[in-house]
Amino acid sequence: MFNMEVKTSLLDNMIGVGDMVLLEPLSEDSFIDNLRKRFDHNEIYTYIGSVVISINPYRSLPIYTPDKVEEYRNRNFYELSPHIYALADEAYRSLRDQDKDQCILITGESGAGKTEASKLVMSYVAAVCGKGQEVNKVKEQLLQSNPVLEAFGNAKTVRNDNSSRFGKYMDIEFDFKGDPLGGVISNYLLEKSRVVKQPRGERNFHVFYQLLSGASDDTLKKLKLERDFSKYNYLSLDSAAVNGLDDAANFRTVRNAMQIVGFMEDEMQSVLELVAAVLKLGNIEFKPESRCNGTDESRVKDKNDLKEMCELLGIEQSVLERAFSYRTVEAKMEKVSTTLNVSQAYYARDALAKNLYSRLFSWLVTRINESIKAQAKTRHKVMGVLDIYGFEIFEDNSFEQFIINYCNEKLQQIFIELTLREEQEEYVREGIEWTNIEYFNNAVICDLIENNQNGILAMLDEECLRPGTVTDETFLDKLNTVCAEHQHFESRLSKNSKFLTDHSLPHNCFRIQHYAGKVLYRVEGFMDKNNDLLYRDLSQAMYKANHSLIKQLFPEGNPAKVNLKRPPTAGFQFRASVGTLMKTCIQSPRQKSLPHFHRLFWSVIKRVPGLMETEGERAGYAFRQTYEPCLERYKMLCKRTWPHWRGPAREGVEVLMTDLQVPPEEFSYGRSKIFIRNPRTLFFLEERRKQC
Ligand code: ADP
Ligand code: MG
Repeated sequence: MFNMEVKTSLLDNMIGVGDMVLLEPLSEDSFIDNLRKRFDHNEIYTYIGSVVISINPYRSLPIYTPDKVEEYRNRNFYELSPHIYALADEAYRSLRDQDKDQCILITGESGAGKTEASKLVMSYVAAVCGKGQEVNKVKEQLLQSNPVLEAFGNAKTVRNDNSSRFGKYMDIEFDFKGDPLGGVISNYLLEKSRVVKQPRGERNFHVFYQLLSGASDDTLKKLKLERDFSKYNYLSLDSAAVNGLDDAANFRTVRNAMQIVGFMEDEMQSVLELVAAVLKLGNIEFKPESRCNGTDESRVKDKNDLKEMCELLGIEQSVLERAFSYRTVEAKMEKVSTTLNVSQAYYARDALAKNLYSRLFSWLVTRINESIKAQAKTRHKVMGVLDIYGFEIFEDNSFEQFIINYCNEKLQQIFIELTLREEQEEYVREGIEWTNIEYFNNAVICDLIENNQNGILAMLDEECLRPGTVTDETFLDKLNTVCAEHQHFESRLSKNSKFLTDHSLPHNCFRIQHYAGKVLYRVEGFMDKNNDLLYRDLSQAMYKANHSLIKQLFPEGNPAKVNLKRPPTAGFQFRASVGTLMKTCIQSPRQKSLPHFHRLFWSVIKRVPGLMETEGERAGYAFRQTYEPCLERYKMLCKRTWPHWRGPAREGVEVLMTDLQVPPEEFSYGRSKIFIRNPRTLFFLEERRKQC
């Protein structure tokens, strides 16, 4: 009676298997082969148990239509062929019907399709939740926050024409009926070095090009800008126009989105003034002026850009000009003015541009949050969607990659901890027989980076604060001493074993064994980027501006605030925000279901280390359900349980399974749930229901 050959959408040989759990035999080769087979048939989604994986098709497939939304709506996860909508639907339904907070984590390399996936989840949820004027306005605002943040936080890179250069976690809040009330966005470390310099073949943030291409002549004139990209030092020339990217049209989309989100006309104007000011700032150049003591002092070369920038921001020109030639050092209650040479002046200029832009970005997020936050105080349940920059391994990896990869390492840790550990714990709780599976735990790599005492970030902070001559090289020396020295005495599982030392290591580099591969980091710029110093004279000049937005962005420039405490370093801030994120994902004040994972593959199928954890999923059970709903759903399949079963639900399910002759090795009875080993069994049950 129990038919193992049951054909369903997940078990079609032609297009491989829809769930890796069904793969026989399961090896890395069969895994990749299966993905490829499916991909060749335009099946970009595949499950590994409850995890959805996908491969970027890089062209539009007709699988996101309103009809598809209807198809996946209110259906069980394994009923239809794998799709991101199935995951979104399951998340939404357990939020609405079971009152559980949800969290969807999307991981994958840069360009794999994370941002698109997060938007698909949001648009799916928007399509299936309630309608009505108020609700529609909330939805529209939530969705339109995307183009705004993408304009300011995304850029063309060699991997992706629309690469997110910031991390984002968005909580959508729902009322008890499951209608959206609003949302909260958290942003993580924008890659601000891009504002002043872009790697070859890459661009600055989209908004610069959008503004120059799409603004009216009149707007440009007001902003003292010219349309020509090549006029601006901060815009790389070799890749200014991108195929298939219509900057001018996108500018209109962004303006429109800003309006919908609730930006006032004057706020938009202020934002554009800041964007223009950054471009102007990049054009300010310096020349040396010899002084009698033999040193060189920096002077602004051609004052026109300086003048226009000051006009845009309401800054007194002489104040800013002075800040590019001198800096005030406060020592023992005394203020001493020292001169800047030309290279220090350029450094100061770039630091100002980076700070201006990244603070503008954070302000935008705060401003959007003001608009989209739930009006009513009775927030009921939340769905969080995490879309963060993917793992990056370049030839040349710097502080940014280090931070990005650290974050991905943490996500991998959640993945391991939650899917595997929780799974094992549930078996123990339910009294299901279970052999413990050894899995690679990347906690040691996280520890190597974030340990409070001798983690890499802590050592970097220590070096940044140490008086005396500190450079990227002294930092590297320290790393090499601390991390390499004890290696002989420590086990291969200790954190320092992930700090790779070998003789092939190039000068000025260190190498880490990440879960996704070995990455070589060049230390040049680590100290500087971590310090993120902005001379006080510059922040004071900004604070004095007659421009309310710019003034707001530089509160530390307020002379009344004599705060000699150093601002936290970039690394410290990032570690703290990643910590908060982990807490949000792992523990929630209310009972929460496991995070839903969506992992993505780069379009060229290749091996992804860490994925073979599938063995863990497979040794377990693909499906579980508490006895009552299980009996309710399938009681029609058996005369003895239909229409009413009088007795404990568990016994009813036992009768049902015996009657249907499901082989005993296919499932186990837990304390409160039935565990089904293989989705096949579930298909079988579902098929039978359809026939009824
Ligand atoms: P990531 O955020 O992982 O870096 P993106 O989500 O920005 O990657 O995707 C990069 C590009 O790939 C997108 O701009 C789009 O052109 C394409 N893409 C991503 N996902 C899909 C999809 N599901 N269908 C079609 N094209 C996609
Ligand atoms: Mg992205």
